[in-house]
Amino acid sequence: MELIDTHAHLYDKVYDSDRSEMLIRAKDAGVSLILIPNVDVDTIEIMLKLEIESGGLCKPMMGIHPCSIHSDYKSKLEIAGKWLEKHTFYGIGEIGLDFFWDKTFKKEQEDAFIEQCKWAKTLNLPVSIHSRNATDEAIYLLERENLGIDGVFHCFSGSVEQARRIRDLGLSMGIGGVSTYKNVKIGEVIEDIGLDHFVFETDAPYLSPVPKRGKRNESAYLTFILEKISDDLKVSAVAISEAFSNNSKRIFNNCF
Ligand SMILES: [Zn+2]
Repeated sequence: MELIDTHAHLYDKVYDSDRSEMLIRAKDAGVSLILIPNVDVDTIEIMLKLEIESGGLCKPMMGIHPCSIHSDYKSKLEIAGKWLEKHTFYGIGEIGLDFFWDKTFKKEQEDAFIEQCKWAKTLNLPVSIHSRNATDEAIYLLERENLGIDGVFHCFSGSVEQARRIRDLGLSMGIGGVSTYKNVKIGEVIEDIGLDHFVFETDAPYLSPVPKRGKRNESAYLTFILEKISDDLKVSAVAISEAFSNNSKRIFNNCF
């Protein structure tokens, strides 16, 4: 069974003591590719170091996370934009809107999100979108801009209605550890939409799936998420992993 982790921050310092073993566990679990989202200007260097160390298993994306967008965001976007000219990246991410922590820079977040979506359009790269307490706003901006870009709403746990609008935009949704938590009914959303618009992700080191909830997450734990989705949908794990891997390959086709 092949698994693809479309969103994992494996350059995080929590892996500094056992990163190579953690990557071996991922490979042993069947993980063939891991997309690595950037967060801020100071994560670029460690992300590119991981790309080399992982021997091609980890592929970097470029973008500035909404929580890193403040009054000085234009200089950060300039740095990210320069990197896109001199290095190969496999997506634009992670980008988006986060109104959970702070709405002070709402306007700046929206500007930065749209600008980075336009990079994706120009460079023909998929996006990895973060939206927290802002999914309707992110969908609205994408509908309004109508750029026709491909990509993933990462860590999706929204409604059927939101999922339909994301599908109608031609985008897909990332399914991670949250799908294993009680009271989260992502199975119903997948049944409504169909398997074609979903991919797996961990968002490691965050959001560990049950039974590892509360502990450090890692890409090998995709197997727990696969198991849960397979149970929810009553579809074999083999069929789900194949469908989600094929979706990942279609979206992140420049990795192949
Ligand atoms: Zn993330």
